Amino acid sequence: MHPNLAIAPDRALIVVDVDEVLALFYQGFGRFIAGHGYELRSDKFALFSNIFQPGATEHLEIETGRALFDEFFRSGADLIDPAPAAPESLAALAKSATVVILTNAPEHGRDERSRWLKRHGMDYPMIINEGPKGPAIAAMADQTLFPAVFVDDIVSHLDSCALAAPRVRRFQTVADPILRPLAPSKPEHRRIDGWTNLLPAIQAELTAAA
Ligand SMILES: [Mg+2]
Repeated sequence: MHPNLAIAPDRALIVVDVDEVLALFYQGFGRFIAGHGYELRSDKFALFSNIFQPGATEHLEIETGRALFDEFFRSGADLIDPAPAAPESLAALAKSATVVILTNAPEHGRDERSRWLKRHGMDYPMIINEGPKGPAIAAMADQTLFPAVFVDDIVSHLDSCALAAPRVRRFQTVADPILRPLAPSKPEHRRIDGWTNLLPAIQAELTAAA
């Protein structure tokens, strides 16, 4: 399901998503889409159904959107900015914790994504996952008795974590200010948008649990 990543048994564990957590994916994808003559609208928390021909009322065929998405992961990483304060926050957490990046990027985007993370000072082990993230989180969290934290923007991955690895503390964050009001939440996952407030909350959680 995922590589046998050895997790230090004597450190806290931070598992963190990339898109809309460490990366302003939506803005970058919007630039890429614009470069191909399309518009990425922000009416709802969705992806393929937000891609339009300029002026159109019906979104682009899903298959065309998917092809653009695949090409974006192959070659478009330079269009993505890091989420504000994300690299510094991970660096601060990495002083006392193991940081692992858990992304559902397509496998063909692995090299481009690794390079992007390195370029922006986020050179941590990266796992490419498919489907719900809970099982991969559980496999890592089971290797340490220290506190573990998972950060994602998508409620279904936080739900999956709650089910598969209930002891892991869950935080939802949405990097893009335009997407924040559109992104669904659930009260059982603590939501803190933006690393300025998220970092101290994670640090407090690690301290309280230690
Ligand atoms: Mg994400």
